Amino acid sequence: MLSSLHIQEFPYQNGELYAEDVPVRALAEQYGTPLYLYSRSHLRRQYHALVSALRAINPEIFFAVKSNSNLAVIRALADEGAGADVVSGGELFRARRAGVEASRIVFAGVGKTEEEIDYALRENIRFFTVESEPELERISQRAEALGAVGRIAVRVNPDVDPNTHRYTMTGKAENKFGVDVDRAVKAYERADRLPAIEIAGLHMHLGSPIMTPQPYVEALEKVRPLCEELKGRYETFRHLDIGGGMGIPYRPDEQGLNPRDLAMAIFPVLNGLDLAVALEPGRFLTGHAGILVARVQYVKENSLKKFIIVDAGMNDLIRPALYEAHHEIVPVRETGGTLFGDVVGPVCESGDFLAVDRDLPAVEQGDLLAVMGAGAYGFVMSSNYNSRARAAEIMVDGSEVRVVRERETPEDMIRGESIPEWTKR
Ligand SMILES: *Cc1c(COP(=O)(O)O)cnc(C)c1O
Repeated sequence: MLSSLHIQEFPYQNGELYAEDVPVRALAEQYGTPLYLYSRSHLRRQYHALVSALRAINPEIFFAVKSNSNLAVIRALADEGAGADVVSGGELFRARRAGVEASRIVFAGVGKTEEEIDYALRENIRFFTVESEPELERISQRAEALGAVGRIAVRVNPDVDPNTHRYTMTGKAENKFGVDVDRAVKAYERADRLPAIEIAGLHMHLGSPIMTPQPYVEALEKVRPLCEELKGRYETFRHLDIGGGMGIPYRPDEQGLNPRDLAMAIFPVLNGLDLAVALEPGRFLTGHAGILVARVQYVKENSLKKFIIVDAGMNDLIRPALYEAHHEIVPVRETGGTLFGDVVGPVCESGDFLAVDRDLPAVEQGDLLAVMGAGAYGFVMSSNYNSRARAAEIMVDGSEVRVVRERETPEDMIRGESIPEWTKR
């Protein structure tokens, strides 16, 4: 047997993989493949694990919608008490549609347009996390024009190495995100002079995934004196938003970030600070809430290696191609044997792989495989490359099953396109 990562909501029963109480095979047969399956119970369990570990500081949780922006996922978390951390007007629209109150929404991102800022001001969101001084000016101008107030938290870049992939590291000086700690006071002074800005707090986000509490502690130690100073200067300064990035295990030998360890490590640094602490978890909540189910189309062998060719590709799940991310791949019906090789998709790119040089379940044509940990940065990063329709998304809760996004059709894919009348017939 291959060792594997055990996720309680995706258990094996009599050799068959289940999504909560429903056999994955039955769902694949009914709804087709590739198929994203989400467990509502897992979303709830992760949310409450985080909240209860940090109960002593009673943090506000803003779910990072970019990790999985399906309306049903946003709503499932909002039902438990989560707000939303959005990074675009589109995500703000989704969060509002899913029923998240505007006062429970924060808006991040380095490139907010005027339209996006206007939309957020009209909705009257909790605050913007601001990434630069020109952005402060723009928010103030738009707020003045609309007769609104732009509440802001400056995103401070604490220059801490989160020990992650360079593409997902955001809190180092060389990254485009945030304002350096020593320039932050200047940014706040600028904000304070602007007419329609209210200083709501301070924001940081280090990158992702972070597997130990140390980067958070290091960063908090750097920003704590700054927070104390700002709290003294501005009476509206009440929030310390420590961002997301809480890691989950992707490999059987990984641990993930334990929320209780995080709590024990950060409580002393936060002690006596008397600010409302906020967190912006994405992956931690959604990562293992989702699997991607694919069907084996061919098993192919060349002189060097074996390839399991499945009907899910980099357009469905790009993390392996983009970040060399590891996802466990398990059989939907347990198999005895293993084979060594790659799991690849049908897309015409050599980078179209889900697993490389690995011991894999000995599957055959027609068998089903499940890619674990696909709930975060999975469907949301999917595309129509190679004119492949995006997969359906299903949510399971116990024995309840709902289609939360229909599989795309060829018509969906060409919607909005047209051929100029001057082309020859
Ligand atoms: C991406 C992002 C998050 C969420 O990151 P996760 O690793 O999914 O927890 C939170 N805050 C900000 C500002 C982000 O950009």
